[in-house]
Amino acid sequence: MAKAGAEDQVDVAIVGGGIIGIACAFRLAAAGRQVVLIERDEPANAASRGNAGAFAFPAIQPLASPGILLKAPKWLVDPLGPLAIPPAEFAAVLPWLLRFFRASMSGRVEASTAALAALNRLSERETAALVYEAGIGGMVRADGALELYESEAEWRASLPGWQRCEAAGITVEHVADDRLAELQPGLSPRLVRGVFLPQWQTVSDPRDYALALLRAAEAHGARVLQGAVTRLAPQNGGVELVLEDGKALRAGHVVLAAGPWSKTLAASLGDRMPVTPERGYNTTLPPGAFDLKRQLIFAAHGFVVTPLDTGIRVGGASELARFEAPVNFKRARHMLDKAAAFMPGLKREGGIEWMGSRPSMPDSLPVIGRAPASPRIVYAFGHGHLGLTQSAATARLVGDLVLGQAPSIDIGPFRPDRF
Ligand SMILES: Cc1cc2nc3c(=O)[nH]c(=O)nc-3n(C[C@H](O)[C@H](O)[C@H](O)COP(=O)(O)OP(=O)(O)OC[C@H]3O[C@@H](n4cnc5c(N)ncnc54)[C@H](O)[C@@H]3O)c2cc1C
Repeated sequence: MAKAGAEDQVDVAIVGGGIIGIACAFRLAAAGRQVVLIERDEPANAASRGNAGAFAFPAIQPLASPGILLKAPKWLVDPLGPLAIPPAEFAAVLPWLLRFFRASMSGRVEASTAALAALNRLSERETAALVYEAGIGGMVRADGALELYESEAEWRASLPGWQRCEAAGITVEHVADDRLAELQPGLSPRLVRGVFLPQWQTVSDPRDYALALLRAAEAHGARVLQGAVTRLAPQNGGVELVLEDGKALRAGHVVLAAGPWSKTLAASLGDRMPVTPERGYNTTLPPGAFDLKRQLIFAAHGFVVTPLDTGIRVGGASELARFEAPVNFKRARHMLDKAAAFMPGLKREGGIEWMGSRPSMPDSLPVIGRAPASPRIVYAFGHGHLGLTQSAATARLVGDLVLGQAPSIDIGPFRPDRF
């Protein structure tokens, strides 16, 4: 990676080399723009490295919903449960939590569902186009996902949600008995029902995918610059980016795609964006740890199990905590224990544990749009649980804004000034 040079001038500077910044870099470089991607660490080394690798296009139901309000109290009393707030973190996350509860009121959920459905639908189309153009289609597998239930009652309670998905054009297959066993042999008999989602796709490995996309962007002339951006300053006809080492760069447009760290840079422009780090944990077991046919979703327990080329990844969970809070890998082990109970024969030796922070917004919608401070700064962060899923759509929309075209879908629900 190059070091930041003084007096540089580029068409587009993208801050943050996660999957969102990389997808934007590809889209804009492929459109002929001179692009610099600025990353303070290695590209794709944060959440975009260790996520569960799903293009979860059918996931259109916002996390902020009345359903979560019913489950949250039970989850919160279990320190290793699907949702945790360490006591020392409570005061820091309270303002975000209040916004989350407000967004969970039913009036707003319908609008959020429609916005997510439109974004995910665009992403399904755009992912196909992007991987084809980048020559990385072989890294994407159209293998679907299987959501699992431990009782008829639990499955029945999920039906209204699936009906909303079907109304949005998503294919949903309810399965049991032989069909369930055919989709995934070797599960515990405790799992009595399933929902198969054929439109769900997975990548061979999320980090490998992001880096392959970055190489394709570089083939179109995009450059990676190592450096931490500390400030963005709109200027006449452009934007100045100030780096930690004191050097500066001038760009015609800036895309802010720094995941949960975008908050600080948005604040340097006067915007108080409620994006918060929402931690997730996982363990990646060696390949062959289980004969896994596709991603399995244990929604009631807040984790998924994904077959990757690099291993079997077991993880998920949500921990609201500041960046500096201690890491609690007991959460990863707890999910592995549960997975072993549902998947008899899972070989649990040799796993590698990981923690990463999702960039989460209280209303479960990303921020995609021009910064109030300058039309030359485009925000692209806050994708929460769906950053990989929504990366290609985000790149298309950011491309539309930077290139001065009409956005491919209505971006009103994602606008930065909605809070
Ligand atoms: C356990 C877990 C499982 C998940 N599973 C899935 C899944 O299956 N499907 C899905 O769609 N999503 C999933 N997600 C969510 C997904 O990983 C994230 O939404 C996505 O990775 C966010 O990408 P990003 O590019 O916005 O941010 P990041 O990946 O966090 O990248 C931001 C980058 O910006 C850089 N940066 C920060 N500040 C600066 C600065 N000042 N200057 C320069 N660079 C800077 C950082 O170093 C980082 O590399 C999961 C997340 C977790 C934690």
